[in-house]
Amino acid sequence: MKLKAKLKCCEKKDLIKAFEYREKPLFETDFNIKNYNRYYKKCKNCEHYFSFLDFDINKIYKKTYSEKTYGNSKKIENTFKKIISFPKHKSDNKNRVLRCTKFIKGKKFLDIGSGMGVFPFELKKKIKNLKMNLLEKDKNLINFLNKNFKNENIKSDINYFTKNKSYNKFFDFISINKVLEHLENPEIILKKVKKLLSNNGVLYIEVPDEKASIAGGLREEFFIEHLHVYSLKSLKNTLKKIKFKILQIKSIKEKSGKFTIFAFCKNIKN
Ligand SMILES: [Zn+2]
Repeated sequence: MKLKAKLKCCEKKDLIKAFEYREKPLFETDFNIKNYNRYYKKCKNCEHYFSFLDFDINKIYKKTYSEKTYGNSKKIENTFKKIISFPKHKSDNKNRVLRCTKFIKGKKFLDIGSGMGVFPFELKKKIKNLKMNLLEKDKNLINFLNKNFKNENIKSDINYFTKNKSYNKFFDFISINKVLEHLENPEIILKKVKKLLSNNGVLYIEVPDEKASIAGGLREEFFIEHLHVYSLKSLKNTLKKIKFKILQIKSIKEKSGKFTIFAFCKNIKN
């Protein structure tokens, strides 16, 4: 079994085996994995969870992720419509928008891992003239995003921005919702984000919270796609290591019931 998740979660990283899975949890998407076998180890010091897997998680994402997760394009559209119809007291996204609007000062916005685009769609309704830049890897989701964001900049690779000098310290607001937990080494993307964020720009992060472990690792926060499940301590440590100044960090239970940690941060000025 290989450690897929790379992260220095804290100064006293000390891993013990936590949850082990020999079959997929009931509501996890079925990716047709043969000999299903995976586990998490948890850091005894900071409560961060690291995933150990036998198979190549990246293969999951390559072709089938959106179709397995959201269905075909018609289904994507129906799911999108259903989610945007949620009233505020049921909507994770509308509450996310409320949190973020207080921190958005400029117009240059980058959303990393846009998915179906529910969050940028809701944000656009609240803040006029936002110049949207959306990053999404999945082709089916990009096709769908193109319908709702006809005049916006939609790209599939963050290197499009990092390799173009005009985007250096460009963005006033960058959001990265429920993305870091999917990556083997979340520091790589955070370092890129740091370069794209303007001096007064704000970064918004959301990750699954280890508090979901109360259900014995069977909640969606611990589904197979999640290589990391964060604690307040481990997220703080990650952000400090990359020299972000934390403006706010909080552990919340979202309207959908998800245990989530969110953080707002800025670049520390050199
Ligand atoms: Zn730790």
